[in-house]
Amino acid sequence: SKYKSVALVIGITGIVGNSLAEILPFSGIPGGPWKVYGVARQPRRASTSHLPIEYIQCDVLDEEETYDKLSKLNDVTHVFYVAWDKRSTEDENCVINGTMLRNVLKAVIPNSRKLKHICLQTGRRHYTGPIDLYGKYHVQPHDPPFREDLQRLKSSNFCYTLEDVLLEEVKQKENLTWSGHRPGLVFGFSPFSSMNIVRSLCIYAAICKHEGEPLRFPGNRQAWEGYWDASDADLIAEHQIWAAMSRRAKNEAFNCSNGDVFKWKDLWKVLADQFGIEHYGFQETEEKVPSLVEMMKDKGPVWDNIVRENDLLPMKLNDAGAWQFVDSVLSGKSLLDSMNKSKEHGFVGFRNSKTSFNSWIKKMKTHNIVP
Ligand code: NAD
Repeated sequence: SKYKSVALVIGITGIVGNSLAEILPFSGIPGGPWKVYGVARQPRRASTSHLPIEYIQCDVLDEEETYDKLSKLNDVTHVFYVAWDKRSTEDENCVINGTMLRNVLKAVIPNSRKLKHICLQTGRRHYTGPIDLYGKYHVQPHDPPFREDLQRLKSSNFCYTLEDVLLEEVKQKENLTWSGHRPGLVFGFSPFSSMNIVRSLCIYAAICKHEGEPLRFPGNRQAWEGYWDASDADLIAEHQIWAAMSRRAKNEAFNCSNGDVFKWKDLWKVLADQFGIEHYGFQETEEKVPSLVEMMKDKGPVWDNIVRENDLLPMKLNDAGAWQFVDSVLSGKSLLDSMNKSKEHGFVGFRNSKTSFNSWIKKMKTHNIVP
């Protein structure tokens, strides 16, 4: 075969799945040349047709379908699990997401003779516990900066379920290794996924521009002035490929963030500039934090017009903008993690968060997500 490694990416249309799909096939990537199988629940859309991947539509919540479709991929060497399905309660998140991962591993581990390593992506929720609509935590979160060895919080958390399922299933095969990846807020490109803050903010900015309104910051003072970090989706993909290849990263979980801090004040200027908006910022006098859920409530028709006039990728406003997600992020506290463990184990990748934010906005424009 002309390939040295074969990736099975579960969640190929997601925010990190998209970066893996773009990066793995490049020449010169560690472990390459890579063959890439990409699994998602939806049928393949035109927006992924340029990617050199074998696309497999499969609902991994369905045990039988998953076994049928994935057990025959007997050349897989590495699994990248970057999927998730958001449900309304955390207990449901645990059951549903745990079942999805288990179905995949039960189909792949016994049937891929060459399988070496599994990367599992969870997130910062590991340290904070689930967060409700208004940025409130169910239990007292850990104190940031978060380190990987902090003990589990006493509340249900699908990140724990996924790590437990993984640890149990990897035992089925000798010499099979794993790594855990815990990004914070992800900056990346995904036309259709549920938690994409850059895409959501771009759509909000496009609507403000169209209506000649100022670009108000939909968050609180803490969020506006505090120090934040973010996780660039390409960096997360690099981190996973590093872990898949490096002996020093085996059987460990790692945080994964850009390695710098930023303030939303500074990114807000980037956003306003990209959309040619003169008036923007945080309004001191606001009685309550402006909510995107509320501000966007009646903007469906406005967005439909913007899409039509600019020949954008057809998407309904509430599919395109993850308003609740962004509200809960920007009305919460700024949180930081530590990248020391990754560095100590040999990963020295980083991103400039401001540059990263700017470049994903440009990509949204190039791909006709926003004008
Ligand atoms: P996403 O929502 O961008 O993508 C989800 C992917 O999973 C899609 O490709 C979808 O097709 C696939 N999927 C969902 N249900 C499926 C099913 N039943 N069968 C097959 N495929 C299915 O994902 P994401 O936001 O990158 O989330 C992945 C992990 O990263 C989660 O644990 C999440 O908590 C974590 N995370 C995300 C962010 C963020 O800002 N988006 C931040 C930190 C951590």
